[in-house]
Amino acid sequence: MVAYLERILLDTDITNSIDLKGSIETGGSTVAASKDFGYLYSALPLALIKPSGAEDIARVIKAASQVPHTTVAARGNGHSVNGQAMTVGGLVIDMRSTEENHFQLLSIDGSPDYIDVSGGALWEDVLTRCVSDFGLAPRSWTDYLGLTVGGTLSNAGVSGQAFRYGPQISNVMELDVVTGKGDITVCSETQNPELFFGVLGGLGQFGIITRARVKLQTAPDMVRWIRIVYSEFEDYTRDAEFLVSQKDGESFDYVEGFVFSNNDDPVNGWPSVPLDPNHGFNPALIPSTAGSVLYCLEVAFQYRNGDQPSTVDTAVSGLLKGLGFVEGLKFQVDLSYVEFLLRVKRVEEEARANGIWETPHPWLNLFISKSSIGDFDRTVFKEMLKDGIGGPILIYPLLRSKWDNRTSTALPDSEIFYLVALLRSVPEGPLVEKAVAQNNEILEWCIKEGLDFKQYLPHYRTKEDWKRHFGNQWTRFAERKASFDPMAILAPGQNIFTRTH
Ligand code: FAD
Repeated sequence: MVAYLERILLDTDITNSIDLKGSIETGGSTVAASKDFGYLYSALPLALIKPSGAEDIARVIKAASQVPHTTVAARGNGHSVNGQAMTVGGLVIDMRSTEENHFQLLSIDGSPDYIDVSGGALWEDVLTRCVSDFGLAPRSWTDYLGLTVGGTLSNAGVSGQAFRYGPQISNVMELDVVTGKGDITVCSETQNPELFFGVLGGLGQFGIITRARVKLQTAPDMVRWIRIVYSEFEDYTRDAEFLVSQKDGESFDYVEGFVFSNNDDPVNGWPSVPLDPNHGFNPALIPSTAGSVLYCLEVAFQYRNGDQPSTVDTAVSGLLKGLGFVEGLKFQVDLSYVEFLLRVKRVEEEARANGIWETPHPWLNLFISKSSIGDFDRTVFKEMLKDGIGGPILIYPLLRSKWDNRTSTALPDSEIFYLVALLRSVPEGPLVEKAVAQNNEILEWCIKEGLDFKQYLPHYRTKEDWKRHFGNQWTRFAERKASFDPMAILAPGQNIFTRTH
């Protein structure tokens, strides 16, 4: 079958009859597109296409529609962990080759400002260019910025700013999308809204984002980055929920947090907390009532170069006043805004140097409602994961009212819900299966106990599971698929729909 397709695609349809401005690569160069950050799955495509822009992408999709069983996977930076940007024997479109296509500042109605960027641009490049060229920056981020605009918008894009501005999908005004029918379309809240909202959080199912218009704000110069430690989960969640519920200007600019083991393990325990290697963690300060795990609230306060240090100190002390963290277990550093947003790049550099970046990452990401998070803490954090997972366990609150129900991302029901991220790095071998089994055990436990939760960056194998994931949004999701990608050509690696013929 593959040989047959190869002959049709390469000898006739693609290489001969499609006139691409970009390139089409086969053989050894497709191997890079057969893997992702997860190192759990691999699928070799037939060809890797490096399009020059939307017209090339439209031609590729139209050509694929003519060839039975052929699917098309847009690949952003391949930082999915479960093969979501892969296709077996199909065509991978390398979106990075389009990264320079758009970079234009727009001022609509005077202010605020927007930037048009390519779907294939990396957020780290968007950040550095926006700050250095205009002194402006997008408002909502992910923790790590080596991800493409199209890749995060296909999921949601969340970090410590999302409580205030919503996820990245709440910060986009307009998109250019090439649909699964090969139509090049402009969409927004008022123009083709069904496609616009469908594509946001749409797991690549309806179209390929080639341009996004992203909201900007004035970039601050500096950030005070602070970590404070809690021994009791109830105190941690009370303070985190308080901070994310305050008005703009009356809280920190960034609120996140994580769970860590109450021991001296270098990766999972006390040493993972201080922000500066010269700062020690004094375990004698931990209350004797503390359990197997502790909690670290991570906040940031943004300021300008011209602000007096005493003004910053006063503002920060005012915000910390009344919070119930363990006295003495507070860590802080001041750094530039760009350094702060690129903080995970430094982790990447270290991990690459230690050879642990390119290892399997059996991650599990969940959105869990406020009503269920206490049960989750008692069983999952305090029991199942008390010895850590070989990587961070994030937990921080988000507000549903900052999300738009018309987008495709599935969320739990309550206004306050938590992102819980198990960011595991596991050496190749039997530990990978063990980690995957533990993820499944956690999911099964959540279902059995009736927790109100959804997977974020979801991964399922069967349509039944996907229907359950989307719940009462499934019909809308399936109708959008029928409208924009009726032959189910796009994003086969998500395993939601099957190519029709
Ligand atoms: P890919 O993995 O290449 O693609 C993801 C999916 O989107 C695929 O189905 C693909 O076909 C589709 N796709 C790609 N480009 C397009 C496009 N232009 N148009 C339409 N569909 C497209 N997420 C957060 O929200 N917050 C975080 O803090 C965060 N931190 C992360 C840290 C690391 C180290 C990693 C590896 C991931 C993190 N993520 C985070 C998850 C990340 O947002 C998603 O995995 C995202 O999809 C990765 O982007 P990518 O460009 O690599 O996409």
